Amino acid sequence: MRGTVYLVGAGPGAPDLLTLKAARLLAEADIVFYDALVNPAIVEMARGAKKVAVGKRCGRHSSAQRFINKRLVDASVNHRRVVRLKGGDPMLFGRAQEEIDALAAAGVPFEVVPGITSALSAAADLGVSLTRRGVARSASFVTPRSGEGESPGHWIQAVLATDTSAIYMGLGEAASISAALIDAGKSARTPVVIVENASLPNSRRVAGTLGDLPDMAAQGFDGPALILLGEVYRELISLESMHHERVSA
Ligand code: SAH
Repeated sequence: MRGTVYLVGAGPGAPDLLTLKAARLLAEADIVFYDALVNPAIVEMARGAKKVAVGKRCGRHSSAQRFINKRLVDASVNHRRVVRLKGGDPMLFGRAQEEIDALAAAGVPFEVVPGITSALSAAADLGVSLTRRGVARSASFVTPRSGEGESPGHWIQAVLATDTSAIYMGLGEAASISAALIDAGKSARTPVVIVENASLPNSRRVAGTLGDLPDMAAQGFDGPALILLGEVYRELISLESMHHERVSA
C-alpha cells in the first residue's frame, strides 16, 4: 500500500477558518504531522489519527527539515492518508517546496490544500483592505528571514515597489527592518501595524510609524505576529493616538 500525503493549510489559527477540505482530510487522516504554531484545537480535529509534532516555531534548520521530509515519505508506506498540517497557507513561507520535492523524488503521491495566510486574516481583523482604492493597488508578502546558505533576497525592493506589504517572521528583527527600509528611502512616517495572533480571541495590534517600529515591537509580543506597512494604515495611527489621548486625559 502506498498512501497519499496531503500538505494542508491550517489557516491563521481560528478553527472555523479551515477549508471544508482540510476539515474532511483531518477527520479521515491516519497520521498527522503538525507544526508547533498550529492551534491544538485544529490538531484535535484529527480524531482517529496518530499525531506527531514536528518543526520548531522559528529558525527551522535544514537538517530538521530533511528529517521531516524523510518522515513524510516513510509514513506513506504504512498509512493511507498522511496529513502534513502547516500554519496559514503551505505555499507561503511554509517550507512546502522541500517536502513536495522530497515526496516527488520518492514517488509518493501528494496533494496541497490551501489555507488562509495570516496576512489576509490580519487584514480581515483590522477591517482595512490591503488594496484600498485610491491608496494602494499592489501588495507584497515578504520576509527578511533567510536560511543558512540562502541569500537575503529582494525583500527591501519588494517593499519599496508595492503600496502595502506584509512582513512575515520579522518582529524579532524589527529594529534592523526599520533601519534597512528607511536607509533604502522609505519614509520614517510610513504607517505600520503589528498584528499578533490574527483570527484568535487574544489577537493584539499596535499601530505607529516605520520610525517607531523598534519601540512598537518591544511591547511584549510572544505569539506569531506580522508587520503590515503602507498608507492604507494611516487612519489606524490617528485612531490609536486619539485613543491614547482619551485614556491619558
Ligand atoms: N505559512 C504561514 C506563514 C509561516 S511563517 C502563513 O501563510 O501564514 C510564520 C510567520 O507567519 C510568523 O512569524 C508570523 O509572521 C506569521 N503568522 C502566522 N500566524 C499568524 C497569526 N495568527 N497572526 C499573525 N501572524 C502570524
